[in-house]
Amino acid sequence: MSEAKRPGLLPVEQALERLLALAEAAPITEVERVALADAHGRVLAEPLVASLDLPPWPNSAMDGYALRIADWAGEPLAVTQRIFAGQAPQPLEPGTCARIFTGAPVPAGADVVEMQENAEVLDDGRVRFTEPLKVGQNIRPQGQETRVGETVLVTGTRLNSIKLGLCATLGVAQLQVVRRPRVAVLSTGDELIEPGQPLGPGQIYNSNRTLLIQWLKQVGCEVIDGGILPDNLEMTRERLGAFNGVDLILSTGGVSVGEADFLGHALREEGELALWKLAIKPGKPLTFGHFRGVPVIGLPGNPASTLVTFALLTRPYLLRRMGVQEVMPLRFSVPAGFVWRTAGERREYLRARIEDGRAVLYSNQSSGVLRSAAWAEGLVEVPQGRTLSEGESVNFIPLSEVLN
Ligand code: AMP
Ligand code: MG
Repeated sequence: MSEAKRPGLLPVEQALERLLALAEAAPITEVERVALADAHGRVLAEPLVASLDLPPWPNSAMDGYALRIADWAGEPLAVTQRIFAGQAPQPLEPGTCARIFTGAPVPAGADVVEMQENAEVLDDGRVRFTEPLKVGQNIRPQGQETRVGETVLVTGTRLNSIKLGLCATLGVAQLQVVRRPRVAVLSTGDELIEPGQPLGPGQIYNSNRTLLIQWLKQVGCEVIDGGILPDNLEMTRERLGAFNGVDLILSTGGVSVGEADFLGHALREEGELALWKLAIKPGKPLTFGHFRGVPVIGLPGNPASTLVTFALLTRPYLLRRMGVQEVMPLRFSVPAGFVWRTAGERREYLRARIEDGRAVLYSNQSSGVLRSAAWAEGLVEVPQGRTLSEGESVNFIPLSEVLN
């Protein structure tokens, strides 16, 4: 069933489309050169082009013997050289074979490596082969993986450990990457107090600050910690104006209630404000705007709402500003291990785990309950207007996909 459009609620895809368009209009263009060890999570600002073939020369995939098949007529062959990995071999003497080890270059003139298990060493040191030989067997040909000049990674690739390893295979020690986005984090709310302090009446500990700082670092951002901002217009103005040279101000809280919406007031006065009511649960209210030219995203304050709107909207926005094309997390379809009785007005993202191949839900899906996300392995997507019986397919987004 397709998702019906509800008046007033903005479908997630449309919100994302707008955010990505805004990101593309404000790309981070500065680059820097970093060592491989410092490039994890960064975005390539140049393509990785192979300056050599991989492997650079044909090499042995086995410990065994290299020979020319035409030389093998059933008569044992003398061993005329031993080739270890890291050595440069002599051309193979006709009518003989070479002892060879895994990773060693195959000598010119040899067209097969036979594994030692299929070779019998005679008392006089000559070798007899016990199985039929096949041209090319156990030889990894030059350029089998990559040819010189090939583009191996394109500009805009986000570097993970494997891609960094790939750079290493090609001998690359440094990479040109996009500068880290500078993101200021603000937690709004008179009720907030930092962990480590005694809790007063009506206060709660600020959890979003910790969450957002870690998530932003994982995305590859430089974080400017803006601390807690009281619900006060003058202070909001002042604090927003104090962030110099940041690429984004990311705040939580204060977007749901009109009265306490000081962020919105400040943006309206000295910038631009778009208040979106998203067809998404948790996380309906989202603010996007500018304050004196600096982009501002205001996420809802409940921690599970913060998670969902960060993962599905803010993270893709930041990645796109760095030039990443593939910004959407992997999702796959799994059978529901639960019943969903009431069709919702908004698409729901439920904190879930996979048990016995089915998605099961945390018992309390309230947006204020961070334990649901701590327990979860991923988010289950329940489309707007849908009910579900057990076994029906639902989309599952692993948390590891969005928190990296
Ligand atoms: P708000 O969007 O400001 O109305 O906040 C919605 C709910 O999230 C309220 O219950 C807030 O107390 C809570 N909340 C807001 N900011 C934070 C935060 N930084 N850490 C934990 N809870 C928060
Ligand atoms: Mg608040």
